[in-house]
Amino acid sequence: MASTRTSFVHPTVDLAVLGAGVMGLVTALTARRAGLSVAVFDRAADFTAGAGWRSGGMLAPECEAEVSSPSVVALGRRSMALWPALADVALNGTLVVAPPRDPAALARFARVTASHRAADAAAVADLESAFEGRFRQGLFYPTEGHLDPRATLTALLARLRDDGVPVTFAWTGTPEDLPAATLVDARGLGARDRLPMLRGVKGEMALIRSRDVTLTRPVRLLHHRHPLYVVPRADGVFMIGATTVESDDGDTVSVRSAGELLTQAYALHPAFGEADILEFNAGLRPAMPDNEPVIRRFGRTLAVNGLYRHGWLLAPALAETVVAVAIHDTEPEAACASS
Ligand SMILES: Cc1cc2nc3c(=O)[nH]c(=O)nc-3n(C[C@H](O)[C@H](O)[C@H](O)COP(=O)(O)OP(=O)(O)OC[C@H]3O[C@@H](n4cnc5c(N)ncnc54)[C@H](O)[C@@H]3O)c2cc1C
Repeated sequence: MASTRTSFVHPTVDLAVLGAGVMGLVTALTARRAGLSVAVFDRAADFTAGAGWRSGGMLAPECEAEVSSPSVVALGRRSMALWPALADVALNGTLVVAPPRDPAALARFARVTASHRAADAAAVADLESAFEGRFRQGLFYPTEGHLDPRATLTALLARLRDDGVPVTFAWTGTPEDLPAATLVDARGLGARDRLPMLRGVKGEMALIRSRDVTLTRPVRLLHHRHPLYVVPRADGVFMIGATTVESDDGDTVSVRSAGELLTQAYALHPAFGEADILEFNAGLRPAMPDNEPVIRRFGRTLAVNGLYRHGWLLAPALAETVVAVAIHDTEPEAACASS
């Protein structure tokens, strides 16, 4: 499919991807593997500007059903099948616990989600020995997984470059000038010129390091006001998150949010009280008014956006659709093009 025509800016490609975030890189790799020639362009100097850099990396289609539509859950389940071919993902499931004084929270969460099994105190300790004697019951979601977002962005970039895909950061060009058959606009909140209804939903997080706690999977602590999740990374590092604030003001973390995150982490395991704080950070999740993802066509451009709080979860399934639409020159399906 690759054209041989060249231009001053860049050789003509089948697919030019705007945005080297989660969605852009996964789309580029999916397209390359489908045999397309691809190039990626990002206006930022590196990955640190995107929402993905500050994210948790949970791949949790079942738990997300608590706050998501059935179509998001279905896309997430499809992505779970696609991720292992794209990057290193840990498929150890998710453990959900609640404060011992609030067993009703677990019952409610079990009602609104699927594909879980109840865990008594012994099963909780069996899954995560750090919780021995701490929780009388929990819910285990065996089909879920997680990844390290920063390591994964770096690995995706390396894979693309190994596959001969040029990825340009600090790009200052104009999309209209890109010599490509199809443009994929995966700019997240940077695409508000094309999708003015996009909004940012702020998420505040922290990275801590503890040598006293070991977890093998994401753990969610239910709470009516301050739910928390903890995602393990290498070298004793844990991502703890995340607030959901209707705000377009990213980057800064409020004292209140920082206090809540740390207090809840301490409630999950007292040893987190001795952990080192490595980083506080905040990101803006790109969201449409109904919090559903969209794929929309604008001439030769396919805009894919609104990944909200599920960017890692949804990217492979959305990329699969985007690439199929680009190859067959069809219209995006109504399910993804709504809102
Ligand atoms: C605190 C927090 C925790 C999260 N946890 C999870 C989680 O556990 N699991 C999960 O699935 N999701 C999670 N998310 C959501 C996920 O991070 C987002 O849905 C995802 O990053 C959106 O991907 P994106 O590629 O559309 O946008 P982004 O990741 O924001 O990437 C957009 C890219 O486009 C580039 N760009 C912008 N403007 C231009 C331009 N004009 N030209 C070229 N490039 C441009 C940017 O520099 C950036 O690299 C979390 C988000 C936050 C904030």
